[in-house]
Amino acid sequence: MLMNMKDLLKVANEHNFAVPAFNISDYAMLNGIFEAVEEKQAPVIIAIHPDELSHTKPEIVKAITEKANKTKVPVCIHLDHGSSLAQIMLAIKSGFTSVMIDGSSLPLEENIAICQEIVKVAHSVDISVEGELGTIGSTDAEAEAGENEIIYTDPDVAKRFVKETGIDTLAVAIGTSHGIYPEGMEPELQLELLKEIKSKVDIPLVLHGGSSNPDQEICRSVELGINKINISSDIKAAYYKKMREVLKDGSLREPNTIQPPCIKAMKEIAFHKIELFNTDDKARLY
Ligand SMILES: [Zn+2]
Repeated sequence: MLMNMKDLLKVANEHNFAVPAFNISDYAMLNGIFEAVEEKQAPVIIAIHPDELSHTKPEIVKAITEKANKTKVPVCIHLDHGSSLAQIMLAIKSGFTSVMIDGSSLPLEENIAICQEIVKVAHSVDISVEGELGTIGSTDAEAEAGENEIIYTDPDVAKRFVKETGIDTLAVAIGTSHGIYPEGMEPELQLELLKEIKSKVDIPLVLHGGSSNPDQEICRSVELGINKINISSDIKAAYYKKMREVLKDGSLREPNTIQPPCIKAMKEIAFHKIELFNTDDKARLY
């Protein structure tokens, strides 16, 4: 069941769970994620970053749409970290049902202005829009773009930002970073800040950089009102860790021999996230 983000997360907001947004840039991994969410009867967001879309090519969205139309599980196809009108228009044209416009590194007034522009275009064709306020950190060169310094989201500014832009979901900066945290770097989520933002903003809140945070903090953030959590590095790391093991057998060459154990390893992580986010068996609510 293909949906936009607004309709998908409205239910999550009412029933206090978070839908995982798994970043996909590979067809075998896409199949694995669909298998995982169907087994768990969990709604899902298939997130694709512009760099990932350059890799897969936009035609993959047609395949995802077909898969979404065939399953009873709610599916949203979301552009992760769009940064320009051209990227947003390509996503809309390709069949995405939700887009993110990330103006978080811009001065506040410019962030508001670009969000307003995208909301006007996207809402006219029933596509949802995610904005971001504050900055998410970055841990390593493989991670999505992020800032070296985390600027936490200000709850009062968030209230104004949501009201003036008309966005459907808000990505907040409460201490997470993109990528896998290096040894010795312990993320600590500002859960009191999250509470305060939630009390002032009634649209669903999004947590970026959800990989490799302690399970307990993620669990608590869901209880406190996070409705979408982005998971990219954790599933990819599991997939390729297994692939390195499999490829120790130098005689292998067929994708249908090499990839299935890797998909299985990735699905274990996906199952864990779905349970952690309280999303299992929530497809019945739609
Ligand atoms: Zn992100």
